[in-house]
Amino acid sequence: MEVIQHYKNGAVFVSSSGRRQPVYNPALGTVCAELALASADEVNEVVAAAKAAWISWSETPALKRARILFKFKDLLEQNAAKLAALITREHGKILSDAMGEVTRGLEVVEFACGLPQLLKTQFSDNIGGGIDNWNLRQPLGVCAGITPFNFPFMVPMWMAPMAIATGNTFILKPSERDPSASLMIADLFKQAGLPDGVFNVVQGDKLAVDTLLAHPEVAAISFVGSTPIAEYIYSEGTRRGKRVQALGGAKNHLVVMPDADLDQAVDALMGAAYGSAGERCMAISVAVAVGEVGDALIERLVPRIRALKVGNGSSADVEMGPVVTAAHKAKIESLIAAGVDEGAQLVVDGRGLVIDGFEQGYFLGGSLFDHVKEGMQVHREEIFGPVLCVVRVANFSEALELINRHEFGNGVSLFTSDGNTAREFSRRVQVGMVGINVPIPVPMAWHSFGGWKRSLFGDVHAYGEEGIRFYTRYKSVMQRWPDSIAKGAEYTMPVAK
Ligand code: NAD
Repeated sequence: MEVIQHYKNGAVFVSSSGRRQPVYNPALGTVCAELALASADEVNEVVAAAKAAWISWSETPALKRARILFKFKDLLEQNAAKLAALITREHGKILSDAMGEVTRGLEVVEFACGLPQLLKTQFSDNIGGGIDNWNLRQPLGVCAGITPFNFPFMVPMWMAPMAIATGNTFILKPSERDPSASLMIADLFKQAGLPDGVFNVVQGDKLAVDTLLAHPEVAAISFVGSTPIAEYIYSEGTRRGKRVQALGGAKNHLVVMPDADLDQAVDALMGAAYGSAGERCMAISVAVAVGEVGDALIERLVPRIRALKVGNGSSADVEMGPVVTAAHKAKIESLIAAGVDEGAQLVVDGRGLVIDGFEQGYFLGGSLFDHVKEGMQVHREEIFGPVLCVVRVANFSEALELINRHEFGNGVSLFTSDGNTAREFSRRVQVGMVGINVPIPVPMAWHSFGGWKRSLFGDVHAYGEEGIRFYTRYKSVMQRWPDSIAKGAEYTMPVAK
């Protein structure tokens, strides 16, 4: 059986911790590999390698760093299909969706290729007495990224290319559930000419994460995952003086106004609620039906959900694959049961689905709840599965207040044909990423990604210009040369003369 290992100093680093856990193929419901779980000593060794590589990497001109990223981008394009197949094997999402993930990750690499221009800073000539003043953005040192299972390639790409292009070295701690993409990333970086020790991988669980959090040489941590862990990483990391950005969970609403194009709204809901089996932090899990639109919405959604083609993600005609593990499937089923117990109306029940030839796979059909009320568990909690809840409200204000009262604020969407409603909504909604007639508003690589409220702990969003700020420190330099030095000590606050 294949054992998935760590990666350090440009080579696979074979673990001797003796700790392992299985990695599953969720479509088959069988073990496809074993994962080595790092000991604290192994994590410390990887940090030492990343630290040793940092001095010369941070001194490497930004243009040379960018040239390696150009090669990396080229290699990713050549290997995209292989990468997507690996993602589908361990995650379960359909191949075309895995290819989409690869593309969205690649876009951040493309953005990072332009960093020499973006690291250019400001200069003020002759601020007084022959003095010039300018600023620099300098790298932090060793940065770590701790990533979730649902985007095993894209989320590491939100972090590593940005950290590396700005002159840091990087350690990726991927999800235990689909760790193989991390080693392919490492191999392609190596082929692109990245110096050894600049990109490293530790496979592991809480022990690896806690060792990274405690390590004094880890300067910054980027985290993406569930809210309780995001909060833990943020508080533990910042308590130790590290820079931390920790992106958490979500409960994303899509508001359907009475003047919306209903066919477009239904198409949007189908893709956003059931794509990737709802295992996206930007999945829509609540449809907010405004005014009289609820009945028509349910009428259109039900046959579409019943017709969803569920199966092995590698098969060409499938629209939705399995969920990631048996335990996650059981959790989704128990949340569906909780919705029924609390009085929500289960219009389509996706439980109990068996796929021919994949009887042990972790499959669920799409589920739909109507008449969900605010505060019910299925409205409060992130289900992270193919379950859509419809909440009915009387008007626009009620829809907006419902969303603004929710603890999460990752993404949101509004379907309307009225410009002023759209404008009011995008200005007043307490959510970080807003789509108007767009179901999953994931910002492009040169904008930045992040939620509000308990969907993000930290001050800056991921990638784009926010990412540059996160991975660099601001320094202000003032300089004058001996010929221009004024004579004598000055005991008052220096001012321009
Ligand atoms: P998770 O929080 O269980 O795991 C994320 C990472 O944290 C993994 O690498 C895991 O090994 C580590 N981890 C887990 N438990 C830990 C613990 N007790 N101590 C230290 N480290 C621990 O998340 P997941 O199930 O892999 O991913 C799904 C979650 O991620 C969802 O909540 C989803 O909304 C969220 N997510 C958010 C975004 C975003 O941008 N906001 C993007 C993708 C996923």
